[in-house]
Amino acid sequence: MFSSIRWRIALPYALLILISMSALGLYVGQSLSAARRADLEAHLLAEARILAESAAPLLTSGDQAVLEQAARHWSDLIGARVTLIAADGRVLAESDAPAAYTENHADRPEVAAALASGQGVSQRFSRSLGKDMLYAAVRVEGEGGARGVARVGLTLEQSQASINRLRASTLAATLVAAGLAIALAVAIAARTAQPVHELTQAAQRLAAGDLSARLLPTTDDEIGQLTQTFNRMAAELQEKMRSLAEERSRLASVLDNMTDGVIITDSEGRVQLINPAAARLLGTTQQAAYQRPCAQVLRHHRLIELWQGCGAGDNVEVVEFERLGLFLRVTAMALAGSEPGGCMLVLQDLTQMRRLETVRRDFISNISHELRTPLASLKALVDTLRDGALDDPPAARHFINRIEVEVDALTQMVQELLELSRIESGQAPLRLRPTLVADIVLPPVERLQPQADRNELTVTVDLPADLPPVLADAERAQQVVTNLVHNAIKFTPRGGTVHVSATAVGDEVEISVSDTGIGIAAEDLPRIFERFYKADRARASGGTGLGLAIARHVVQGHGGRIWAESQQGRGSRFAFTLLRAEHMVNHSQADTENTP
Ligand code: ADP
Repeated sequence: MFSSIRWRIALPYALLILISMSALGLYVGQSLSAARRADLEAHLLAEARILAESAAPLLTSGDQAVLEQAARHWSDLIGARVTLIAADGRVLAESDAPAAYTENHADRPEVAAALASGQGVSQRFSRSLGKDMLYAAVRVEGEGGARGVARVGLTLEQSQASINRLRASTLAATLVAAGLAIALAVAIAARTAQPVHELTQAAQRLAAGDLSARLLPTTDDEIGQLTQTFNRMAAELQEKMRSLAEERSRLASVLDNMTDGVIITDSEGRVQLINPAAARLLGTTQQAAYQRPCAQVLRHHRLIELWQGCGAGDNVEVVEFERLGLFLRVTAMALAGSEPGGCMLVLQDLTQMRRLETVRRDFISNISHELRTPLASLKALVDTLRDGALDDPPAARHFINRIEVEVDALTQMVQELLELSRIESGQAPLRLRPTLVADIVLPPVERLQPQADRNELTVTVDLPADLPPVLADAERAQQVVTNLVHNAIKFTPRGGTVHVSATAVGDEVEISVSDTGIGIAAEDLPRIFERFYKADRARASGGTGLGLAIARHVVQGHGGRIWAESQQGRGSRFAFTLLRAEHMVNHSQADTENTP
């Protein structure tokens, strides 16, 4: 408590006041008691002088009894001890101490002084009374010299009491004055220290994080200037913190939303920052990875090697590898400036790019493969024609027919490819509207009937009368049915049956095409909807392997599903769903054009 500025200012003042007031009090008390003593002495002397005057005739008479009576009488009158002493020192009369008679008083200092010079004062211990006394003695003059000495004595107790009273009141006055002065000093010190106290409190609030801490400048002095400077500093700090926080949150939202992963480790190899993308790519969470040793988070030897190499120098290193089914490119760089010994890893997910690359490569190789066969047979046919078949008109006609078949097959493939690419690139938007299932199923079946007849196949159609309309682009949906029925015809041996039916299931209608054909092997079944996929290449009758891929795209564009079930040698069942029109009324009104 006494270490505060208030007390450091107040205490020296209080001490100074106390010391000077005490000294003053002592001095005043001392001089007052000296003055009082001088007064008393003068008073006693005056009394002694009167006594000497009055005692002169009595001393001349020398009557002991009269002297004694007079001494007691005077003593009563003035309230002091009265002693009458003969010129030789004998005690002639005494008011208070009978023992005084036995001793000669000539050697008493006041008596000796009075006999010698007319008067004497002395303060000393009285042997006759056993007390401290103040004596004043005056010589009694007579004819022919000194007759004796009249002495008045006052016990010092009496005089001391009045002096003590004086001293006490002086002391009390001094103490009251000192108290008032100290209180004033403390009040002034408190007032001076108050702004400093407030400043300290504001600074403490600021240090504790309350950046709004400000003070009202009350004075123009140094403290006022300090307050203003403090306010300016606090405002600047607040502004700096605000812009820092803003920058931080901007950076955080960039890191949170970027698709590349970012990891920052400190010099001890602990993860200091990991963004959501990095956590996702490494199969962990931000919370789990934060502050964990980097090696535990990376969990891949190439990554760990990369990170360790990064700590060694400041060069940037890049590795590409596959992990957990993802293809990653990781760039590592040392953070020399901001975080010495730290390292930053940037993870890029190249899986999608890789997949697209693979698809593109496969596609090109598939197309080349598909083109090679018809082109080779075209070349062979042309060669045969040139080598002489031209001269044989019936043979030439046969070869030209075969050339036409090959060219038709090539044309169909190119058309299907174009169709597929238009659907995939969204250039062929679907016009969805409520459509009767019969309008989707019957036209393709009718169109393919001659081909079924040629192959001696029975085609049956079963459409319940109460089938609800579906939401579909009729032309496209017909294409799906065409592809499925065409396949069923192609892959069903003579005498077989192709059955087309539809049923309402929940808010969908399921359209299915079953046949009693060759069926599909279990291992091929999951892949038949892929582009160019043909279950049995040797037997594939001129197909391109694109029909089911197109069908899948179209059905998915309608919001439906397509699948196949089959038992090899027994037959297959292909089915797809379309949404019921009333269920999608809102959807169709809002968005009648859908992109597959
Ligand atoms: P394709 O032009 O070869 O018919 P698709 O994509 O229509 O191409 O069919 C892919 C493959 O699926 C066919 O090559 C065939 O092996 C198999 N497939 C399709 N439909 C049937 C079916 N009804 N019966 C047996 N196999 C079928």
